[in-house]
Amino acid sequence: MLQVASERIANAVRDVPDFPKPGIIFKDITPLLSDGALFRESIDLFLRACEPLKPDKIVGIDARGFLFGSAVAYELGAGFVPVRKKGKLPFQTKETSYTLEYGEATVEMHIDAIAPGERIVLVDDLLATGGTSAAAAKLIAQAGGILLEAQFLIELEFLEGRKLLEPAPVRSFLKY
Ligand code: AMP
Repeated sequence: MLQVASERIANAVRDVPDFPKPGIIFKDITPLLSDGALFRESIDLFLRACEPLKPDKIVGIDARGFLFGSAVAYELGAGFVPVRKKGKLPFQTKETSYTLEYGEATVEMHIDAIAPGERIVLVDDLLATGGTSAAAAKLIAQAGGILLEAQFLIELEFLEGRKLLEPAPVRSFLKY
């Protein structure tokens, strides 16, 4: 199984200093998305990691988690569930608040999005402090879902975000 991003993928991630706040180096994946071969290669990383886990549903985190998560769900024939920033989902939701690398936020999920016992893989573009994905993991647990693994294209290892997701397994393809 291909478990590490290629150098071509790594080179397509652009560092934007001081965005959205001074001191933050934003990992901009838009150059990667706009290259057809590299976008496919990065989706394939998630796909190969997800396939053996046989998830019922992929949960993607607003907004870049949707880009990878929905493609993986399509290929696996799995369902896709969006975890969104507060105020975006139209039906009844469960919400949870958390601290971000650069601020505070609340995420929501529809109350009927996951049934008890469903097998879930959580997908996002980047793991920083882990607050966002831990909040999503909490919503999955509250719904009775089984979090098989949390997967990220990029992990900022020095922020130790994976600790917040314990005991769920965490996989990332590009580490800084
Ligand atoms: P965190 O909750 O700190 O793990 O932050 C993860 C979320 O914020 C993900 O949805 C990322 O897309 C975004 N994010 C946090 N830090 C960065 C960064 N340095 N570059 C790009 N995206 C980031």
